[in-house]
Amino acid sequence: MHSAPPRPPSIDRVLNWAAVVPLIAEFGREPVLAGARDVLDRIRQAARNGELVDYTESSLAAQLAAHLARHQAPRLKPVFNLTGTVLHTNLGRAILPDEAIEALVTAARSPCALEYDLETGGRGDRDDVVEGVLCELTGAEAATVVNNNAAAVFLLLNTLAMKKQVIVSRGELVEIGGAFRVPDIMSRAGAKLVEVGTTNRTHLQDFADAINPRSAMLMKVHTSNYAIQGFTTSVPEAGLAQLAHANDLPFVVDLGSGTLTDLARFGLPREPTPQESIAEGADLVTFSGDKLLGGPQAGILVGSRELIRRIKKNPLKRALRVGKLTLASLEAVLNLYRDPDRLPERLTALRLLTRAQADILAQGQRLLPDMQQALAGWPVGVTVEPALSQIGSGSLPVDRLESWALVVRPVTKKSGVLHDIEAALRGLPQPVIGRIADGALRLDLRCLAASDEAAFAAQLEQLAESNS
Ligand SMILES: *Cc1c(COP(=O)(O)O)cnc(C)c1O
Repeated sequence: MHSAPPRPPSIDRVLNWAAVVPLIAEFGREPVLAGARDVLDRIRQAARNGELVDYTESSLAAQLAAHLARHQAPRLKPVFNLTGTVLHTNLGRAILPDEAIEALVTAARSPCALEYDLETGGRGDRDDVVEGVLCELTGAEAATVVNNNAAAVFLLLNTLAMKKQVIVSRGELVEIGGAFRVPDIMSRAGAKLVEVGTTNRTHLQDFADAINPRSAMLMKVHTSNYAIQGFTTSVPEAGLAQLAHANDLPFVVDLGSGTLTDLARFGLPREPTPQESIAEGADLVTFSGDKLLGGPQAGILVGSRELIRRIKKNPLKRALRVGKLTLASLEAVLNLYRDPDRLPERLTALRLLTRAQADILAQGQRLLPDMQQALAGWPVGVTVEPALSQIGSGSLPVDRLESWALVVRPVTKKSGVLHDIEAALRGLPQPVIGRIADGALRLDLRCLAASDEAAFAAQLEQLAESNS
């Protein structure tokens, strides 16, 4: 004998259920109403498919609560970056230092003198917030800031090279991940690219031969995400600057990753700095705020007063400008560079890059039992092994930093288990992002802050559940 299929309750009844009233208090009436419709639709569909369905208050309220929590959870979730790439573009690049976080929260909370001159009471210029410290740190005469370095390069080309030619070495026509291609930016900015030299060798004479009345500038692009090794020649910046100036042309440098200090003093590989380019005679240098600089997303232009003035007059500057949150946090980060001795403790990105190996190893040994226990039900073994971290974001492409990782290897030939574990890690409340390489899942611990270690270990228990 079949009983009649249960009938769904009306929406009005659902909204008045004792188990649903608290959801209205938490999420609001409209979202609960929309959520209840979605949940009931889903159940009706399941019933039509012949599934056994449950329209009781407790079951529906639980489904509704889960639906609302899922629906309203932030999409921009914090994650654990255990990829081994410190400045990971897809994970938001540099982590801001506390000083910058405080500055941006303060700026968010209250009105601030963004474009207001407190001395005269007249209108100010938002670039004034950081121009002074940028000039002090780079030796440039003037500076301006836009949304990111791609925007900085675009704006400088559009201002100085529209309908004119830009001479670049063929070995420097880079593509940066995420569709920044020098030739594409160039054509969209209205400039005509003139490639000189060959992929591996370019000489000063190649540049000299290309100069003509339609030339707008000589440009150098830092080959930040690859290295051409072997039989190579590139022209030193001082030579390019001299050649440009002898022909009344500016010499501009797209550095990409800008650090304002000599990284070698902290035991890291050397990376060119804007102050070096300025000292070599560059008229304009552009770099990112959120790569090695360790600040918020921004594109920084430093250089001659006259060229910066022209760039700021371009109407597109208005379209590419940054907001007060960026300027507040950028100012705080730049201030840290005034005291390079304490930079590795205070600048989070640099702290991660210079983290002592012994410290990372000790963390790995502390976490190993937790990880082994969490994965006890899976056909895998877990060890702590040496790893090589990357700086990321196109900085220092060939250099690696010695680190330690939790390494998960399958004990059977059954493949797929690593992908299952990787997915389970991604499904944790604070997703853990690792990397599968050479038949193992690797969790490089360099970027796991000591203050996050307990939270990381605590949620590992849920891995055991997700396998049951
Ligand atoms: C990263 C990079 C860019 C793009 O900078 P964004 O800040 O990501 O817009 C441009 N040029 C070079 C050489 C780079 O390394």
